[in-house]
This record gives sequence, structure tokens and C-alpha cells, in this order.
Amino acid sequence: MDEAALRRNLDDVWRRMAAACERAGRQIDDVLLVAVVKTVDVDTVRALQALGVTDVGENRVQQAQAKREALGGGLGLRWHMIGHLQRNKVRHALPLFEMIHSVDSVRLARAIDERAAGEGRRVPILLQCNTSGEESKFGLSPAALPELLDAILPLEHVAVNGLMTMAPFVADPEETRPGFAALRELADQARVRTGLPLPHLSMGMTQDFEVAIEEGATLVRVGSALFRGVG
Ligand SMILES: *Cc1c(COP(=O)(O)O)cnc(C)c1O
Repeated sequence: MDEAALRRNLDDVWRRMAAACERAGRQIDDVLLVAVVKTVDVDTVRALQALGVTDVGENRVQQAQAKREALGGGLGLRWHMIGHLQRNKVRHALPLFEMIHSVDSVRLARAIDERAAGEGRRVPILLQCNTSGEESKFGLSPAALPELLDAILPLEHVAVNGLMTMAPFVADPEETRPGFAALRELADQARVRTGLPLPHLSMGMTQDFEVAIEEGATLVRVGSALFRGVG
């Protein structure tokens, strides 16, 4: 693993995040980098932590579990579940993750609530919406969000912290902008409906994190841009 390359990539991503904040008139402290470590080994996770990364994302429960075991714990990092979560994995997932970005059904929310109740916890979650209008396996349609919110609000052991979306792969990152703007508007409507602060918008990946920041992202989930040439 080439640590110098990792440092360069990380500095470059942070610099681009700062520039996007500047363009949008936002504070850099309002946007957090979630380094998506699904493709890298534990040495790279350790190096990221040493370089000042505070948050990492995984899209599979088993991967997160294996990495945390190999690292002898979470390294003081906040671990985010960003991939589709099956209900039968909730029990394994809860001890591993600080936040679950990918809740897209009442049934999943209830499963998390039930398990979290048993552990005496309240788990921060985001609701994953499909705002691109593309066919997608995961994420609820914007029209289904009000009903989901109403069903989740009474659950005492999940805390809805905001919304998440994943843009389709596109040639020009500008094409992702309408979907990100739509997520921000959905969050505004959800705030009015629920009275909750809903501080987080998880949106933006390697291809489009700058556009996402311009449209209000508070959590950007970046993987490949950090690991190019790192080996
Ligand atoms: C892999 C992944 C990312 C990061 O994608 P990159 O293009 O490598 O930055 C972000 N979000 C989710 C849900 C992912 O699965």
C-alpha cells in the first residue's frame, strides 16, 4: 500500500470538498467525508485513520465485522452502513455501526427498532430515497416517503436523522444535480411533516460528490477517488 498516494488522494478530496463548500457558501465543517472502505484492506483503514479520517462506510455487514475484528475494534472510527441491509442481518449489524444510511422500508425500520430496544439503544438512521427516477432495486420512491415517516416516527429506538440517495452512474456529474436537489426538497418537506431537525443528507460519491455538496450534502460517501494508485 502506497501511503503517500493515499495521503495525496485524501488531500485532493478534502480540497475539492472545501472548494465545493466555498462555491455553495457553506461551511466546510458542515460536510463530513465518509471514506468507503469496501474495496480496501485493514492496513488502508488504519492509514486513513492515521491521516485524520473519522468516518468509514461499508456496504456489507460481514465485511465490516471482519475488518473490525482484524483491527481489534473500530479504531475509534465511526462506521456507517451504506449498503442494502437484510432484516436477518440487523442483529449482527447493530453492534458494528454508528448510523444506518439505507433504511427503505417500514419492515426494516421495525426490525432495527426491536433489536435496538433489546439493547437499550436508539439507532440513528437515514431513509434511502430514489430521486433519480431511474429503475433501482433499492430506495423508496419519493411518493412513499410521507407514509414511511408516519410509520417510523412512533418507533422509540430508531432516530430518523435525514435522507440518503444514490445517483445512477452517468457520464457527466451535472446530470446528478436534479436528483440531489430533489432529495434536499424532500428533506425540507419531511422536516415540516415531522417537526424533526433531520440534519443529514447522505449523497455524493466519487463521480459526483462536488455537485452533491453544492446541493446540500452533509455526508459524502467517497471510495475510489481515495484509492487510485494506492495498490
Ligand atoms: C461503493 C459505494 C460508494 C462509494 O463509491 P465510489 O464511486 O467508489 O466513491 C458510495 N455509496 C455506496 C452506497 C456505495 O456502495
